[in-house]
Amino acid sequence: HAKNAGRNQYQLYDAAMNARAAERLVLAGDLRKGLEREEFFLAYQPQVCLMTGRITGMEALIRWKHPERGLVSPAEFIPLAEETKLIIPIGEWVLRTACRQNKAWQDAGFPPVCVSVNLSACQFGQPNLVAMIKKILQETGLAPQYLNLEITESITMNNVERAIATMHEINDYGIGISIDDFGTGYSSLNYLKKFPIQTLKIDQSFVRDMTEEHHDVAIPTAIIAMAHSLKLKVIAEGVETEMQQQMLRERGCDEMQGYLISRPLPAPEFEELLHNLPAAEQLLAN
Ligand code: C2E
Ligand code: MG
Ligand code: MG
Ligand code: MG
Repeated sequence: HAKNAGRNQYQLYDAAMNARAAERLVLAGDLRKGLEREEFFLAYQPQVCLMTGRITGMEALIRWKHPERGLVSPAEFIPLAEETKLIIPIGEWVLRTACRQNKAWQDAGFPPVCVSVNLSACQFGQPNLVAMIKKILQETGLAPQYLNLEITESITMNNVERAIATMHEINDYGIGISIDDFGTGYSSLNYLKKFPIQTLKIDQSFVRDMTEEHHDVAIPTAIIAMAHSLKLKVIAEGVETEMQQQMLRERGCDEMQGYLISRPLPAPEFEELLHNLPAAEQLLAN
């Protein structure tokens, strides 16, 4: 009896596994078609100086409008894109689109700011990455100082020395580099000192823990102090409340990003925000 129940359970599990695998396969196919059918777009989230309230930059975040499923979260499709290596053409599309958009805003007369683009570890490992980035900057006419790349600590997993060499190539060209989700990955402080980077982004989980239940401010405080002693800028991610903003400001955090200021917005709405900039800054000044 028990044996039977066990087997049924196993079969159920097995069927669920197969269904999941099949669904992922379908989604991977859709992902491939998505590029051709232009189903992707970018959302932009402002990065704001905690002292002045000014927008100093924006992060470009990919969005996928699936014809049947509607909006699919990058948390769902980016890992799949990485597994299938589709992240290579998708990532190139993201870079080109973000650079082109930033240049268009500059040409329209908005104060120039930096656009941050996320890079996956497997993109970072591509031998032609730097050439591809340079080509896109030339194509779009965006000056290198207005592009920033967000990488995670995981890019160093395979070959640290090579990763550092690539970072140098990027950085020497005038493109800034940030470490994203800082504190969640494999952090060797020893390597951090060797990275040619400019910015650390405090992961949103630590920002949340500052005010929710744990009241744990130790990690953000330590990251800010460490970043500054390494002459790096610190951006807090996922800032949702006034209290989080206040606590980060008190601790000398340089910039923030989060729903408190704005959700990531499609280009036309982000442009609205840029138009209403003086009003937005007023709001923050209090
Ligand atoms: P990330 O780079 O750490 O991006 C920050 C994520 O936090 C974004 O999620 C953003 O929408 C979300 N966020 C911003 N402010 C708040 C807030 O106040 N509260 C909360 N709860 N969340 C906030 P999103 O857009 O869903 O992206 C998730 C992740 O997917 C990104 O994390 C990044 O790792 C990856 N990703 C997104 N776009 C790209 C891309 O173009 N290329 C690559 N390789 N990865 C991307
Ligand atoms: Mg990011
Ligand atoms: Mg992050
Ligand atoms: Mg993240």
